[in-house]
Amino acid sequence: MIAIIGTWKMSSAGVFEAHDLLKGGAPAGDAVIHAVTRVEDEPAFCSVGYGGLPDRDGHVMTDAAYMDGATLRMGAIASAENIKNPILAARLLCGRETNCLLAGHGAELFAIRHGLDMRDMRTEESMRRWRQATQERPERLTAYTGHDTVCVLGLDAAGHLVAGVSTSGLFMKDPGRVGDSPIIGSGFYADDRYGAAAATGLGEDIMRGCLSYEVVSRMKHGQNPWEACQGALRELSARKIELGEDAGSISLIALAPDGSYGAATTLSCFPFAAARGDGHDLFVTDSHGKVRDVGEAELIGVD
Ligand code: ASP
Repeated sequence: MIAIIGTWKMSSAGVFEAHDLLKGGAPAGDAVIHAVTRVEDEPAFCSVGYGGLPDRDGHVMTDAAYMDGATLRMGAIASAENIKNPILAARLLCGRETNCLLAGHGAELFAIRHGLDMRDMRTEESMRRWRQATQERPERLTAYTGHDTVCVLGLDAAGHLVAGVSTSGLFMKDPGRVGDSPIIGSGFYADDRYGAAAATGLGEDIMRGCLSYEVVSRMKHGQNPWEACQGALRELSARKIELGEDAGSISLIALAPDGSYGAATTLSCFPFAAARGDGHDLFVTDSHGKVRDVGEAELIGVD
């Protein structure tokens, strides 16, 4: 059984194309890379790759990760600038015994040395947002006024699972801030034996629950992907509420080795794209765990 799932509506075109690649026999890694790079290259998606959300200093700093569920190897970059496709750097780093997570200058040098394309990731639009945020309402800035990571989980015909994630992180983040996305077990996890999971939302909260590992661990203990996502998120939300906080903003996706998938969110509307066997669709779920199959038209104006 082949299957693929991606976060947010912005992933849908790439996920559906990647589904076709899987149907044609492509390995999960190639399918995931296809879906993620498609989002990275599209400047209209302002939270990932080219045209991403700048940090406080006006730099677009990216985080990305790639994990191979067959070997449990991962590669990731953090706080890296000007790498055209951060997910390609993460994939190249996957499989190394040491030095598989590179940050900042080291990640950029690695990309250059391996011949990856470099580009100024700022666009007119990303700089317009930055100028507006700094000049017009500096006193109202919070770390979490913009976000959204593309996370894609793929399962190929050989039964291999791969997770890939890419983001520019929080809008107006402090220079050097790293979220959950390049952190194994928090932003992503994949193990061919039990399943794969990934997270989007406030990284500082996602890391508190090591949520992607928690989801895969629940699948290991017999939960299906829906139960695992819902259970992991409910547990962290309940603890946050006990601590006097709100549930925050977190969404999860998961994919099992049998091709079944699941999601959970604290939001009122979390869109995701999923494909399994021959069919593919766009769905939304909410904080009550209700899920609906929706058309593109219903999500106009939503990323
Ligand atoms: N998780 C990302 C981060 O904290 C942002 C997001 O997914 O919205 O950097």
